[in-house]
Amino acid sequence: MKETVVSGIRSTGYLHLGNYFGAIHNYVKMQEDYNCYFFVADYHSLTTHPDPKDLKANVFRVAAENIASGLNPDKVALYAQSDIPEIPELYLMLNMLAYKGELEKVPTFKDKVRLSPDNVNAGLLTYPVLMTADILIHNASKVPVGKDQEQHLEMARNFAQRFNSRYGEVFTEPHVFRFDENTVKIMSLDGNGKMSKSENINATIFLSDEDEVIRKKIMKAKTDSGPTEPNMEMPDYIKNLFQLMQLVSEQDVHQTFLDNYNNCNVRYGDFKKQLAEDMSNFVKPIREHAAELQKDEDALRKILKEGAEKARESASKTIAAARKAIGINYY
Ligand code: ATP
Ligand code: MG
Repeated sequence: MKETVVSGIRSTGYLHLGNYFGAIHNYVKMQEDYNCYFFVADYHSLTTHPDPKDLKANVFRVAAENIASGLNPDKVALYAQSDIPEIPELYLMLNMLAYKGELEKVPTFKDKVRLSPDNVNAGLLTYPVLMTADILIHNASKVPVGKDQEQHLEMARNFAQRFNSRYGEVFTEPHVFRFDENTVKIMSLDGNGKMSKSENINATIFLSDEDEVIRKKIMKAKTDSGPTEPNMEMPDYIKNLFQLMQLVSEQDVHQTFLDNYNNCNVRYGDFKKQLAEDMSNFVKPIREHAAELQKDEDALRKILKEGAEKARESASKTIAAARKAIGINYY
């Protein structure tokens, strides 16, 4: 039997190279060999109170960008989190087993408290519980997430264990899944943190960016006056640009620039020009396909509906088992 994997992307903005190479690219490879549930995490996006007018377009765009990146809705269940009522039901059950103290200690929570002290809502605090419900609802054993999510997954295992030891074995303990040994993390082009949907927007390349925008962003990317001795260790922001070139350019092009770097005769202007051109060629078909898909709302709606049906089939079994274990089976 195929192993089950679950992963989600928040509908907080436009998808970018980090989402592509850190997540979707792996989803596409996994869809052949695993029983896959991929969802648009619209409930998770509510922690920052998005404008109701934008919600639908955001969800549809994330779905379209996933499909344009190669995800096949016939092979996976692609759905909106809010279409699965079993998820918030399980979230409620798990909240009874999650303690305030442990939730307050989560680094991503502490970051959010620091960054937006005026919006420390309970949803933010219990974010790892909702994430646990997303995963356990399909009894997934594998979760392909980035390094930033490892601690959340440990909490998911704790909550699963806690439920199982109190009520009997209902849940599989989920583990982080790395498709390759070296999962990529795409840094932002100004060298400050990672590319992200909601931060570092001017230094993030989006899958919807036009050629000219991509060129401008790359030409502005942080560099320096170049290496001063052969085979010098690269600073992170240069390493990031070389990593991007390795991901989108021909291998010999990448190798040539790498050799130039190691021989101290790299010209960053030429390097960026080449990277910008190859990046545009890489992004263009995804951008065009995603735009095409977003024009046909009926088709996207149908895909999400079918995805939700597949997801609910599995979710309803899990929730029935959880209710029974707790003793909620009166009739
Ligand atoms: P937000 O700013 O709203 O948190 P995000 O860009 O961090 O958005 P998420 O929806 O939080 O995106 O994450 C979706 C997936 O993309 C996760 O698996 C995450 O690990 C991966 N991911 C996000 N940013 C990067 C990045 N810069 N490099 C590699 N992977 C990334
Ligand atoms: Mg994030």
